[in-house]
Amino acid sequence: MANHFFDLVRARLPGDPAARPFLETLDGLRWSYADLVAASARYAAALIGLGVNPGDRVAVQVEKSPAVLALYLGCVRAGAVFLPLNTAYTAAEIAYFLGDAEPALFVCDPGRLDALKPVAEAAGVPQVGTLDARGEGTMAAEAAGQTGTFADVARGPDDLAAILYTSGTTGRSKGAMLSHDNLASNALTLVEAWRFTPDDVLIHALPVFHTHGLFVATNTVLMSGAAMIFLPRLDPPRILDLMGRASVLMGVPTFYTRLLKEPGLTQEAARGMRLFVSGSAPLLAETHREWRERTGHAILERYGMTETNMSTSNPYEGDRVAGTVGFPLPGVSLRVVDPESGAPLPTDAVGMIEVRGPNVFKGYWRMPEKTAAEFRPDGFFITGDLGKIDERGYVHIVGRGKDLIITGGYNVYPKEVETEIDALPGVLESAVIGLPHKDFGEGVTAVVVRRPGAQVSEAEILGALESRLAKFKLPKRVLFAEELPRNTMGKVQKNVLREANRDLYGG
Ligand code: AMP
Repeated sequence: MANHFFDLVRARLPGDPAARPFLETLDGLRWSYADLVAASARYAAALIGLGVNPGDRVAVQVEKSPAVLALYLGCVRAGAVFLPLNTAYTAAEIAYFLGDAEPALFVCDPGRLDALKPVAEAAGVPQVGTLDARGEGTMAAEAAGQTGTFADVARGPDDLAAILYTSGTTGRSKGAMLSHDNLASNALTLVEAWRFTPDDVLIHALPVFHTHGLFVATNTVLMSGAAMIFLPRLDPPRILDLMGRASVLMGVPTFYTRLLKEPGLTQEAARGMRLFVSGSAPLLAETHREWRERTGHAILERYGMTETNMSTSNPYEGDRVAGTVGFPLPGVSLRVVDPESGAPLPTDAVGMIEVRGPNVFKGYWRMPEKTAAEFRPDGFFITGDLGKIDERGYVHIVGRGKDLIITGGYNVYPKEVETEIDALPGVLESAVIGLPHKDFGEGVTAVVVRRPGAQVSEAEILGALESRLAKFKLPKRVLFAEELPRNTMGKVQKNVLREANRDLYGG
């Protein structure tokens, strides 16, 4: 048997891998495809040397560097399961992940070794290594001692390549098990859908502990023989500079709102670019419009999640419709159903989004009941996202099911109220949440960010909404904030807003 994922990488390597660039960094590091293959071989051999066996997890909490990609592919080639962890996780959170995943090896930043080594030992992890932001540490030293060739460990399409823990804003974080074919099939689909070729140069400024930066961005480059410029983090002036010699940018909506604040963002600056992709959180229709006015490009919005990889995308050719996430990708089945009965809903009706296809994960690590509860008997995964399909077939995401507000027995979809508020003069953006209310169960509440210099008041907003929304949908209160709390992937943290204001109506 062969190694499913890496064989596909090999089959799609450029003809002259030593001459074709895979990656460059701002401080001048350059990797050809041949360098990448050799580096991943060294890491794979180092893992075997450290006692990592096929199927073992390798947990990794390190800063972004090219070495992380060599470690990721080294795991895949050694038959191990790559398990990246958000750099923001505290020692207490790491203790949970290590206890749950029982990795054979934990790799952390050298600066956190003193704090995390005891945590790993307490969790029974046999080996601890280090890797820093420059790609140096004990893991790099182990890898440097190996040769650049490695006989890949046999792995089939359904064997695990990675486990990514979901962000888990409620309850315990769950480890989503992703197989070789989940990753490979989705990457190949995206290469086609977004027309990647070896001539592409991707600006990569996303974290690599999350599905977006690790799989969507990296695997698409890898499976098309394209190149990427690897930035440690979002850096708008730098990205603007790089647009002169790049062709694609992938980002979360925050990338686009931050870039729009750069006076240098013009049609001329974006002239060599062919594609701007957004995902991981909803892109405001206004951002889409402003981007088009400033650069002449329609941002291509797509939808996916850790558990499903990418499920839908706006078309490469054809209308990229703002406020929608486009059509199901080839091979992906998507339906909207009544959350309770599971019965399919008609066009334009809002319900639960369910997805089936080679992109959908293998289940939650060591949580068979949770896994069973989130799949329908016919194999569809219940995403937890509410949405609808319009008459043209475009999928719209309305929000997470858990953000649905039930007030006085009526369902209120926050997105509908947010859209109305966002359209009012003086409003930059809003988040609508439900807060405990003794009469209504939940009270609809808006948190609004004003445009700079705008004075719009609570009474004005409520007054303007009265004629536009049914009475039960109207916010009982409008609160103002300087900005909305967001996580690193640009998602508004409604749980933070709910927590901060939980006593607004006396509980
Ligand atoms: P994650 O697993 O961190 O990638 O988060 C996945 C969740 O992000 C999805 O279930 C959606 O709720 C949300 N999401 C991803 N892409 C979009 C999008 N284009 N529009 C709206 N929500 C999105």
